[in-house]
Amino acid sequence: MTLPLKTRLMLLYLTTFALIICAWSVFVVVLVRADLYAGIDRALDSRASQVALALGTSAKGEVEFQNITGSTLVGVAPTEATAQLLSSGGAVLESSGETMSLKPILPPSDVAQALQTGKASFHTVADSTGEKFRVLMVRLPQTDRVIVVGMTTENAAASLQRVIFMMLLSGPLALLLASVAGWMLSRRALAPVARMTSIADGIGIEALGERVPVPVGHDEISALARTLNRMLDRLETGVRAKRRLVADASHELQTPLAVMRTEFDVSLSSPTLPPEAVEVLESAREEADRMARIVRNLLTLARFDEGTLRLLRTPTDLRELAAEVVESLSVLAQESSVSVTVSGDPVEASVDPEYLRVALVNLVENAVKYSGAGSTVTVETAAADGEPSLSVVDDGPGIPEEALPHIFDRFYRVDSSRNQASGGSGLGLAITCEIVEAHGGRLDVESRVPGGTRFTAVFPRA
Ligand code: ADP
Repeated sequence: MTLPLKTRLMLLYLTTFALIICAWSVFVVVLVRADLYAGIDRALDSRASQVALALGTSAKGEVEFQNITGSTLVGVAPTEATAQLLSSGGAVLESSGETMSLKPILPPSDVAQALQTGKASFHTVADSTGEKFRVLMVRLPQTDRVIVVGMTTENAAASLQRVIFMMLLSGPLALLLASVAGWMLSRRALAPVARMTSIADGIGIEALGERVPVPVGHDEISALARTLNRMLDRLETGVRAKRRLVADASHELQTPLAVMRTEFDVSLSSPTLPPEAVEVLESAREEADRMARIVRNLLTLARFDEGTLRLLRTPTDLRELAAEVVESLSVLAQESSVSVTVSGDPVEASVDPEYLRVALVNLVENAVKYSGAGSTVTVETAAADGEPSLSVVDDGPGIPEEALPHIFDRFYRVDSSRNQASGGSGLGLAITCEIVEAHGGRLDVESRVPGGTRFTAVFPRA
């Protein structure tokens, strides 16, 4: 089931409510119908008693029914119920109403049965027009005659229809009101969950200190929020411990690496070394350099992660900084036969020059490393829309489109076999990106294969 919980709850609630309304309506209709017919039966009963009484007193205490036209039944209000006095053969002896009805309400067979059992019985009959009547038949005491009283059920049926109509009208209306109320209630009940979801969604590795809001009270939702927060506490502790470990380990590795490099340098300065030993030592020295770079990069990233790295911003001329970096990398550029130039006007930005130098060195080093002999690298400064920017442009092999989304990931390298010779570790661009973003800027990349790559660091306006 892919429907949201809110909708599922609503559907469940509405189905239950609809079933309850249906059962309630049926119950009410059955009850009202039974009540209406019980009322008719009671009226018939008292009517029959009235008739019996009237007949009994018509001839000074004796029961007498010869004079049909001077009907004793006329004395009884004819609008309430039709009444007939039937002979044992089923013939009409007397009838209420202004005109005498000679057609018996009930057939002779029923009359015979009433005489035989002597018990009152209720029947429902329809007349020639189809109108329904409720009929009570009772034997007149101490005679072989039968009193039949009947009453139309039309009024009861109309009342019942009104009740059914009311039920049909009020049922869907109640359902509609209940669905609106249910929708609002479920929204309200689940609102804390929606809030918790959106906040929990925003808690990433870089915002581990955030917690989801705990709703007031001690219900399931607040218990869920507390559990989530406890889980985040544990996660934060674990991540902090991991970062600490990386930071401490990189910090601790720096000194032995520095010692190793010095020892290699001292050994290499010996004039008596055989050429094979010089070759091995130089290779080991290069590897030690590489390891020192990786360790330095790891330490910088760990400090970024811990939030312990503080930028010391000063107004800096980006063009001057670019020139310094290009100068510092001139030996590498010469060795790689790559020409590196600076272009653009002086542009001032509020940055930490030390960290920005690290970022720019990474970009220029990459451009020189990956472009290959004979290519050109340019460091450009600009201030489009007042936003200071630094671009490093090369005409090297470019970066494949599918690799572009990953190049700022830690330890990501486009093609490890191609990059093996460059001695990189996949941390340079990750650090550069962190440094630029720490300044409130962004690092963009455009690349074509073949054609070249342009990295642009854009900083916020002063
Ligand atoms: P590395 O230590 O491997 O240089 P980076 O994070 O600096 O790590 O770069 C990630 C990957 O991006 C590199 O392995 C390389 O393949 C690719 N790359 C970076 N800069 C360039 C560039 N100017 N030209 C082509 N590829 C590049």
